[in-house]
Amino acid sequence: MKVLRFIADIQSEIGKLKQQQKKIGFVPTMGALHQGHLSLVEQSVKNNDITVVSIFVNPTQFNNPNDLKTYPRCEAQDLKRLEALLPDYVFIPTVEEMYPEKDNRQFNFGKLDTVMEGKNRPGHFNGVAQIVSKLFDIVTPDNAYFGQKDFQQIAVIKQMVQQLNLDVNIVPCPIVREDDGLAMSSRNMLLSEEQRKNVPLISRTLLKSCTFARSLSVEELKKWVVNEINKNPFMEVEYFEIVDDTHLETVKSWSEPNTKVGCITVQVGEVRLIDNIIFN
Ligand code: AMP
Repeated sequence: MKVLRFIADIQSEIGKLKQQQKKIGFVPTMGALHQGHLSLVEQSVKNNDITVVSIFVNPTQFNNPNDLKTYPRCEAQDLKRLEALLPDYVFIPTVEEMYPEKDNRQFNFGKLDTVMEGKNRPGHFNGVAQIVSKLFDIVTPDNAYFGQKDFQQIAVIKQMVQQLNLDVNIVPCPIVREDDGLAMSSRNMLLSEEQRKNVPLISRTLLKSCTFARSLSVEELKKWVVNEINKNPFMEVEYFEIVDDTHLETVKSWSEPNTKVGCITVQVGEVRLIDNIIFN
């Protein structure tokens, strides 16, 4: 496992590997790695000749300066965790290395960027597209692995790949959860002990809603989920939307012939948690 910090170094390694026709898997992360991230690395190691993991807290995707400031950073621990899985390269650039000058590129993802996370975090997905496109350009992966926890992100990245005509296969990977159901997230470590005890209510409510979804209308079910979580004094639902899995259009009726995903964001004190569930 080689740790590289400069674009020129990783490009030079990748150049050699490409000449040998090696299949390259890529896992972009912002660090503070947990089993969710590691599951993506495992998949990549299994299905590619070479795996590159990047760790970079990308400032352009944070619309809240305090969120960027408090985002957990723990490189030594991350490298230790990765050593157990042995990806071939870990790319850890600085902000100056990735953005020697301001990135003014504006992507247009239409509807995908105007709902849910896009609506509530203006500029977030534009920042995600800026960094992921730069990293794809550097790493030139055959396969890139993304977690379904960030469901909308996958839809946006797929659209970006299409728009830029990139030759990379986007591989969505299932959400990894704690034993009590909480979706693993680097932000979970920012929760107080009391908040942590309460937050499994989010996944529990989503799961429960699946069991009787069709006995209520879509609107009624949405209200039920929001009320159930808002009853808890530690939590406030920012949004809960049920959308189709490709265009993220709001689902109006259970009879629509699409795959439906319930996406939620909950504010827990200063910490913003997201989760989702597929209604089959
Ligand atoms: P992040 O470091 O939060 O940018 O996440 C890096 C990648 O890991 C993204 O593709 C996330 O969707 C994925 N990821 C984060 N948490 C989980 C989880 N609990 N299960 C599966 N994938 C995850």
